[in-house]
Amino acid sequence: MSAGLVVLYAGAGPSDVFVLDFDGVVVDSEPEITASAFEAAALHWPDLFSDSVLDVGNRKAQLREAMRTVRPVLVRGFESMVMLRMLLRDPRCPATRDAILNRWSEELPRSLSYWGESADELTQIFEAVRNDWMNSRTESWMALQVPYDGVTSALAATPFPVFIASSKAAHRVSALSSAVLGLELPPDSPRLFASLLPPEEKKAEALRIIARQQVCASPATRLHFVDDRLDTLLAVRQVPELAARWNLYLADWGYNTAEERAAAAREPGIRLLQLQDFNGMLAPPPRAS
Ligand SMILES: [Mg+2]
Repeated sequence: MSAGLVVLYAGAGPSDVFVLDFDGVVVDSEPEITASAFEAAALHWPDLFSDSVLDVGNRKAQLREAMRTVRPVLVRGFESMVMLRMLLRDPRCPATRDAILNRWSEELPRSLSYWGESADELTQIFEAVRNDWMNSRTESWMALQVPYDGVTSALAATPFPVFIASSKAAHRVSALSSAVLGLELPPDSPRLFASLLPPEEKKAEALRIIARQQVCASPATRLHFVDDRLDTLLAVRQVPELAARWNLYLADWGYNTAEERAAAAREPGIRLLQLQDFNGMLAPPPRAS
């Protein structure tokens, strides 16, 4: 292959390339994670999470509301079981919510060891419940996954290459993309970077790999990374090679707190993005001629 051909090909690259986080950017999966956590908790801690306990007062609805509040700090699915159990006694307790939101990296291992539980075992239970639900009651499982307003049509209309970078398992992102977004994304698609855990490290790695692909080869191609987790964006920004190439955005409609959004607005190199502007970036309205 001649060098000239490569240059010609690189020069014809797209004007923009997008890398999108999935949960909290494209799809609101919180209702599903919480519903799966209720099922898994009832299986593993039947005395604590029986219907007779949850039916008292408005306990289940209060727990659902509390789980939405603490969702910004959740990284791995099983953590929802731990949050649920911590919130069980009093879902409205501000001290418990604050402890989860502000000190999750300490509270998580502390709770596990206090209860004599292991992260591995809870992960197995949680993931088994989810897989079983997804496979055997697919329709009700998919109904708990809600694409954010306008995102489905923006993704369908976008003229730009779009990659997904998610901590979710590939088979799950793939099934959801197809069922909820109408977007065919096979588990082995080169556009799908899945199971990126811990996100701070693995998403930075994914961005490095994507930036080296032919589709990003032209220096004129603008690269955009949209995530709803501030820690992930801060980790990416710390890598000079990535900070120089990627535009970083915090999705303000996703799972983050008011404090994180305010912090993002102050951070150089990170932009706070609103849903409408996101949709407009993906699928710009045709210019009047
Ligand atoms: Mg996310």
